[in-house]
Amino acid sequence: MSCIKNTSGTTVEATPDGLGFNAFTAMQPRPPARTPQELRNGRRVKDADLPPAGVYLPNNNVLTPHMRSPEYVQLSTAAAMTLGLMPGKMHRCGCTRCLNLLLTYPEGCRANCAYCGLARHREAERDYADRNFIRVDWPAVPMEQVVDIVARDVAASPFHRMCISMITHPRSDEDTVSVLKAWTARIDPGAIPVSILSNPTTMTGDDVRRLRDLGADIFTVALDAATPALFDRTRGKGVQSPHKWQKYWEILLEARNVFGPQKFGAHIIIGMGETEYEALELVQRLVDLGGHSHMFCFFPEQGSLMDHLPATPRDQWRRVQLARYLIDYAGVRLEQMSFDEHGRVSDYGLPASELDAVIDDGVAFRTSGCPGKFRDDVSACDRPYGDSPPSNIASYPFQPNRTDLRRIRRQLAIPVVRA
Ligand code: SF4
Repeated sequence: MSCIKNTSGTTVEATPDGLGFNAFTAMQPRPPARTPQELRNGRRVKDADLPPAGVYLPNNNVLTPHMRSPEYVQLSTAAAMTLGLMPGKMHRCGCTRCLNLLLTYPEGCRANCAYCGLARHREAERDYADRNFIRVDWPAVPMEQVVDIVARDVAASPFHRMCISMITHPRSDEDTVSVLKAWTARIDPGAIPVSILSNPTTMTGDDVRRLRDLGADIFTVALDAATPALFDRTRGKGVQSPHKWQKYWEILLEARNVFGPQKFGAHIIIGMGETEYEALELVQRLVDLGGHSHMFCFFPEQGSLMDHLPATPRDQWRRVQLARYLIDYAGVRLEQMSFDEHGRVSDYGLPASELDAVIDDGVAFRTSGCPGKFRDDVSACDRPYGDSPPSNIASYPFQPNRTDLRRIRRQLAIPVVRA
């Protein structure tokens, strides 16, 4: 166990054994390697120029065809299984409630975020449509086919929400509009609402308003990093990536004005080097603005620039997960909570009986994101095993049962209450 300094300069112990937390100095991404000229910008796929033939399953020993949005989109494995486009079962989940769509191009995402499997530095190693993202493959499917399947019986659809994930690409603003129009032309966005996971780097305020006018319900900004220094290190200059904290906030505040209260939010990844206090300060700021935070537990994505680093220890994750839920949905404020000298939550600001009731309800430990049709605090976007393996679940894509809750309490070091 080595000693390190966190962003505040205090010395803490690095604990790769999972007993501590992922501190700033321990979470340095490796630098991106240089991609040979002939492999840049999806050249391999564009030169071969194979026409796509319906659903494309990644990593299937087939040369990647030339697929582009808005005609083609990629779907999460969970969404593809729910639509019947891929065989398979998910551990303890019958389906997913969110149809996550990802824009796709041979050139891929032009950003280089250190934790992301889609990042540009992978060009030499893997074609864009074959890259893993939040731990799973993303099959590519004609958008028309996706709409056809859902439009057949919207009332019976398992989906509570659809989400378009933009990537950093010169076409992504226009193509997001086209994908949204293709959906709303045949599916009432009142029946299955649409969220936009935006790419602020290429967007203007007009783009935000246009998406709202075309029927988008919620607009989110993936800050991902909780502090400006972490943002720069993992998504900006630190990894030759184009994103800027200030631009992300400009579009986030625009979304607040355009979409209004409870209709905008930000993604935050926990465990990339921020302190628990820093993460929760951001959560409180978003609530004060009228929005929500959607949280992800850091997992070392294979092939990413952080794949050599430890996943977030479960105790750190659970504390932040619980505290975020209290701030977002239980009216507790950051100032009521206490933190130790390393910024870790030491008191949640609630009497023990009230805290027990929140823990036992279990929703605090489910995947967070845009709401579905069950409850405002239950996310449609369940992202099964997107931030952990099923053997050690971080975000529960289903309601945790009594055994799960006993495990969560052990991770929180809050013993089970006996009546
Ligand atoms: S912009 Fe989004 S998709 Fe592109 S590398 Fe960054 S996190 Fe991944």
